[in-house]
Amino acid sequence: MTHPIFHAQSSVRRFGGTVEDYQPIHDWLDATKETFCDFRHRALRHHAQGVFEAERVFGATIRNSDGRLVPTRYIAEQHIKEDCGGIVPSVSDWLSRIRPETWMSRGYSLPVPDRAARDP
Ligand SMILES: [Zn+2]
Repeated sequence: MTHPIFHAQSSVRRFGGTVEDYQPIHDWLDATKETFCDFRHRALRHHAQGVFEAERVFGATIRNSDGRLVPTRYIAEQHIKEDCGGIVPSVSDWLSRIRPETWMSRGYSLPVPDRAARDP
């Protein structure tokens, strides 16, 4: 899914209520697109730690307009699974895929692959 409104519509189908009940959570998850305007923005909040950060921002539950308590965690997990092939990745899943550059590793002994060997 490419827009938070579609995630909000999916939340309505799953938990009831209205799009407005869920829109702020889905907007927050995708707000990082301001910093990097393709799918890689998801590395900042689309993971297990992001689910718990959503709880800290929105509370453990929301009460939707049907009067039903819905765990914020379930809403965030639904969004992330819809964007990430059915899984909630860890932060490590994202960060371990960063291709190291020399400027990133000053002070660390992490080996930095030779660019020519990496990008033939
Ligand atoms: Zn998203």
